[in-house]
Amino acid sequence: MKIEVSQLHGKTPYQADFRVYSEDIVDDNHELSGEISDQGLHVTGQIFLLNRHQVMCDLHITGIMLFKCARCLKLTPYSCDYGYHEPVDIKDSDSYFDLIPCVEECLYINEPFRVLCKPDCKGICPKCGADLNVQTCQCKNEADSQNNSEIDPRMEVLKKLL
Ligand SMILES: [Zn+2]
Ligand SMILES: [Zn+2]
Repeated sequence: MKIEVSQLHGKTPYQADFRVYSEDIVDDNHELSGEISDQGLHVTGQIFLLNRHQVMCDLHITGIMLFKCARCLKLTPYSCDYGYHEPVDIKDSDSYFDLIPCVEECLYINEPFRVLCKPDCKGICPKCGADLNVQTCQCKNEADSQNNSEIDPRMEVLKKLL
């Protein structure tokens, strides 16, 4: 999403209103852990020149992003509602101002620390990889019986002492 810098010379700020899709994000500078949903993100806001070398970028970004659940890795919708209010440097030679890097930075700064597909997600079994939300695997039972067999001999010893 590029604006001609000449458009920013007017008295009224440039009114941004566009959608951003995952293919728009080049993401050279940031490793975004989420991806934009097919509907895209809605970006609105105002862009105006602060001075010869700086553009004020005042954006509001809403929409759905998809993040991997921290426990089971399932792609999980996450509702975004972010504000971005940053001065951005421009050079005299720039004839266009690209809003996409601002959007990228905003998404990066606001990335959620941890997304869960549901609060009580059971995750995946570290042993066999089964999704424990949809199936139970035998690993836990094995672990339990191992625990039992570890405890049993001690119990035997205790019994003898008694
Ligand atoms: Zn999950
Ligand atoms: Zn398992």
